[in-house]
Amino acid sequence: MNETWIETELAGLKEANLRRRLTARQGPAASTSQQERTDILRLASNAYLGLNTHPHVVACAQKAAHRWGAGAAASPLVSGYTGLHEELEQRLAELKDTEDALVFPSGYHANIGTITALADRGDLILSDARNHASIVDACRLSRADLRIFDHTDAEHLDDLLAAHRGDYRRCLIVTDGVFSMGGDLAPVPAIVSIARAHEAMLMVDDAHGTGVLGETGAGTLEHLQVPAESVDVQMGTLSKALASQGGFVAGSHALCELVRNRARAYIFSTALAPPAAASALAALEILEQEPERRKRLHRNAQRLEDGIAAMGLAARPGPTPILPIVLGTERQALAFSRALEAEGVLVPAIRPPSVPEGTSRLRVTEMATHTDEEIDRALAAFDAAAQSTETEPAGLQP
Ligand SMILES: *Cc1c(COP(=O)(O)O)cnc(C)c1O
Repeated sequence: MNETWIETELAGLKEANLRRRLTARQGPAASTSQQERTDILRLASNAYLGLNTHPHVVACAQKAAHRWGAGAAASPLVSGYTGLHEELEQRLAELKDTEDALVFPSGYHANIGTITALADRGDLILSDARNHASIVDACRLSRADLRIFDHTDAEHLDDLLAAHRGDYRRCLIVTDGVFSMGGDLAPVPAIVSIARAHEAMLMVDDAHGTGVLGETGAGTLEHLQVPAESVDVQMGTLSKALASQGGFVAGSHALCELVRNRARAYIFSTALAPPAAASALAALEILEQEPERRKRLHRNAQRLEDGIAAMGLAARPGPTPILPIVLGTERQALAFSRALEAEGVLVPAIRPPSVPEGTSRLRVTEMATHTDEEIDRALAAFDAAAQSTETEPAGLQP
C-alpha cells in the first residue's frame, strides 16, 4: 500500500497541534506514579476514589481470574454470562435504585448498544451539544433523526420537542449527568418534566457521577434528588470511580430485557472479563463501607479548585472533581500542560475533537487519595506554570 496519504494526514495533525502521542505509564494509575523518568503527581485520572490500586479490589480481581478464568470466553447470550455478572448486575440495580441492570464490556459499548436498541428510523433523538463521543456515535448509528439542543439548555430542548415531536413515533432525550470535559451537571429535574410533557424517553449517562455524587454515591440523580423512576435509562461505567473496566445500563426489567435482546454491542461482543466484574463488585462494596473516601474526594476537589480559582485561572463549574481550565488554542493548552509537567504535575491538554474549537483546555481531576501536601504542591506548580507561560485567564466558557 502507498502510505503517502497517511503520512500527509499525520503531518497535518502535527501542524495543527492535534497530533496525539501515547506515553506509556510504568505503574498503576495512582495519585502519584512513575512517568518516564521521575515521580509525577497525577491530576489526570478518572479513578476518582483511588480504588484501582486498593488491595481488596486487586485481590478480588486475582481471585476471580482463578475461579472464573481470565476472560469470559463468549458473548453473554452464548455462554459468557456467569454468576459473577449476575451478582454485579444486582448490585448495580441496587445502587441505581432500579429493577434491573446489565453490564457491557465498556461504557462505550453500553451507549452504542442501548441507544441503537431504543431508537431507529422514524424516531427522534435529542442530544445535548456536549454529550460524550460515544453518545454522538450511537445517535448516528441508530438511523433515527437527530436534533442537538444547546448545552444544558432545557428551554431549547422544550422548543425542539414542541416543534418536532408530532412528526415521530418515539422520542429519546439523552444527556450526560456530569459533562466529562466541563465538570458541570445537566439540569435533570427540568429535563424530566419536559420528557414527561412530550412523552419522550429519557436517558442519563452518569459515567462521571457514579460513585462520586449523592449521599450513597449513586450519582447525579441522587445528588439532584431526582427519583430513579423519573429516568428511563441510567447508563454508567465501571471504568471511572468504580476503578475497573466495563459499562452498564440500569432501568426497568422490561427495558433491560429489550436491550439484552436488541443491542448488537451486547450480543456480538465477548462478555465482561471476570476479573473486571469482580473488581467492580469489590469497588461497590468499598463505596458502601467507606463513605469517607467520597468525602475526602470532595474535600480535595474543593481545596484544589478553590486554590486554582484564587489564581484567576478557572471557576468551579460544579460539585464534581473535574475542573476545566479553558485556555483557547491547542498551542496554549499544550504549553501550559508542558509547563506543569516540568513542575512535576501531570494534567493533560484536551483539544478538539474532545472539546469544541477554540476551547482547548487543561482538564484537572482530583482523587480521594491525594494528600493535602500533594494538593499544595500542585497549587504551587500551577502558580509557577501560569507565570512561566504568562497565562492570563482566557475568560472562555467551558
Ligand atoms: C468515559 C465515558 C464513557 C465511556 O465509558 P468507557 O467505560 O470508558 O468506555 C461514556 N460516557 C461518558 C460521559 C464518559 O465520560
